[in-house]
Amino acid sequence: MPARTDSTYQVDRGILRMLLDSYWNSDGWRSDVPPPAKAAVAAGVMFDQPWVAGHDEVVEAARAAAKRLDIGEVSDAFLAGLTAKRMDLRSALGSYAVARHLPAHTFRPGTDAHRCDLCGLIDDVQPIDRNAMNFERFKWGGVRRDDLGYVAFDLAQFARAPRLEMQGADVELGQELIAALRSLPPKTTAAQAATALKLLPGNKDERSAVLDILGVCGILRAGSRPSYAEAFVPYSARELPPAHHSDLSYPVCWWRASHGVAASGLRTFLPRLR
Ligand SMILES: [Zn+2]
Repeated sequence: MPARTDSTYQVDRGILRMLLDSYWNSDGWRSDVPPPAKAAVAAGVMFDQPWVAGHDEVVEAARAAAKRLDIGEVSDAFLAGLTAKRMDLRSALGSYAVARHLPAHTFRPGTDAHRCDLCGLIDDVQPIDRNAMNFERFKWGGVRRDDLGYVAFDLAQFARAPRLEMQGADVELGQELIAALRSLPPKTTAAQAATALKLLPGNKDERSAVLDILGVCGILRAGSRPSYAEAFVPYSARELPPAHHSDLSYPVCWWRASHGVAASGLRTFLPRLR
């Protein structure tokens, strides 16, 4: 990836505002996205050029980025990001979970000849808009949870992210979140949980991203549906509900509070929590 992977980006409010305002205004998504702001490019949160890559390069980038990271580092950054509302630090845990078991492979056409049956990427070399992905990353903690283009980008950016020292309050908030998830009425869906869990600072969309992340970590499991915690979930196995039923990612889109919180997922991905 032609990124400044050796340098740390800046997260001052004014700089992030340039990125966020490029894509979003009081009406929602902007249709008139301006060229990248020079100061935001200099600060490392926007990019002059897209990332031009095809299937094999993206897969390798995601695998390589995950291999370079330590799970404890990603886990602690997630907890610190919960309290501090550093969405970029939250996002990496989900991307790490998706990439951790991603097998090395070349493009495998499935029923759709242009889409890889294993990972879901299309086969074309194409420009990938890093600014749009970074917008989603800083605004919500990522929305393309299982899109390997996002996963590779997110993990590469995490390596450049200014870190926060984890505090006791971060673990406390994480533990409160887990306790609240365990005590929801059994039929509560993840979408309803995203509305209800107001102990987590932020809005519903930001909380939905957190639940998506807990889903791919196998902390919120949907019964016997395949989980990324054990093995990479092939694209063809990620069944989604009808679009109007849930905006959440696989597998948390199927989660109900009756499924509970999986201790095995916590032990692997958030070992400071019980
Ligand atoms: Zn693939």
